[in-house]
Amino acid sequence: MTHLTNAELETRAGRVIPGGVNSPVRAFASVGGTPRYFASGRGPYVTDVEGREYVDLVGAWGPALLGHALPEVVSAVQEAVGRGLGFGASAPAEVELAELLVAKLPDVDKVRLVSTGTEATMTAIRIARGATDRPLIIKFAGHYHGHSDGLLAAAGSGLATLALPGSAGVTAETAAQTIVLPYNDVLALEQAFAEHGSQIAAVITEAAAANMGVVAPLPGFTASMLEIAHRHGALVITDEVLTGFRAGPTGYWGLERDQVPAEQRPDLFTFGKVVGGGLPLAAVAGRAELMDLLAPTGPVYQGGTLSGNPVAATAGLATLRAADDAAYSRLGAASDALAAEVSAALSAVGVAHRVQRAGTLFSVLFGDFPEAPRGYVEVQRQNTAQYGAFFHAMLDAGVSLPPSAYETWFVSAAHDAAALDRVVQALPEAARRAATV
Ligand code: PMP
Repeated sequence: MTHLTNAELETRAGRVIPGGVNSPVRAFASVGGTPRYFASGRGPYVTDVEGREYVDLVGAWGPALLGHALPEVVSAVQEAVGRGLGFGASAPAEVELAELLVAKLPDVDKVRLVSTGTEATMTAIRIARGATDRPLIIKFAGHYHGHSDGLLAAAGSGLATLALPGSAGVTAETAAQTIVLPYNDVLALEQAFAEHGSQIAAVITEAAAANMGVVAPLPGFTASMLEIAHRHGALVITDEVLTGFRAGPTGYWGLERDQVPAEQRPDLFTFGKVVGGGLPLAAVAGRAELMDLLAPTGPVYQGGTLSGNPVAATAGLATLRAADDAAYSRLGAASDALAAEVSAALSAVGVAHRVQRAGTLFSVLFGDFPEAPRGYVEVQRQNTAQYGAFFHAMLDAGVSLPPSAYETWFVSAAHDAAALDRVVQALPEAARRAATV
């Protein structure tokens, strides 16, 4: 390990892995330069193979809610590993995790554990189609729900980073079953339901969009979406894979729930990232009568060799148990402080920008945005070259930001004053470099 370099690993990876990466946004494709290969992480820091330490603002793209290698999570996982890696049969940890999720989430009676967020949304859509016997799905432009065929149209995350409208390899028939609408646009929803209402199985939405940078639902949008969908007999799938247990203790829906009429509740939810504590685990969740449509009780099939894996379930349990009120208040305070410091540094050198918030989530849009962007068309006006310059200056100074202007900045409850101070020290020079673009 000690003699490896980032550049050498990039070359070797490029020979045997497409694009050198196992998930596109890791490739630094939009910011340029050599990706860092991380050898370890602890608390708010990650260390690359060359021994360089960075303050980590990627947070494993979400799972690292409490920072890396939290001792109680590591020891719980080590104990679980010692008992065997998985049995392909039911085990106690998955039952305990399901019970914990049901206890924490007010509108959830049952959960089915899967391995990735992609599987969770794919399964939620299959349940919705099974429940309604309708074919069509509505998604919003710039929302990312994983890489299943029907959900890649106008998606955020890696597709936004690489400016891809969708994916090759998706049939026209499949793409035609997804209606893509602008986010935060009640009129567009009304029109789509007026035209296709009897054919629409579900609306799938990120609880707050966070894969095109952060774009929160406008006040009243979630309530309108629920009312319109339900009026037409369609379900609402609230995707909390990114926001769940992060935007707030019960996700972004938990922050909005009190402002929505009690008879309007999402029908299905999806979770991932934090619920697996960094190991591959995700969940579909919802009301009992919908969840019981899944096999073996019902006719909607879903299964997985690794689903509910005991080591992954243990990591999720240990993480959620450690995520107490104090952790969420540290997370919120760190997000507030960092967002304010970044904004001040950019303002000091006249770099136009806008900080986007949703609960504890935030991202920074570079460019002139006199009004808050409502959706994908608006955020695409950002200055990605400026972000690239800022990103590299921060990286040079030992701060690892998401290698794309379209991503959330992932703070953790472990980002203490010392870690935040290192970020703050790096900001003036990074802001100056952004100002030269
Ligand atoms: N939904 C949302 C909202 C996500 O942010 C992601 C991943 N970034 C997914 C689904 C897909 O999850 P996974 O990458 O685990 O398949």
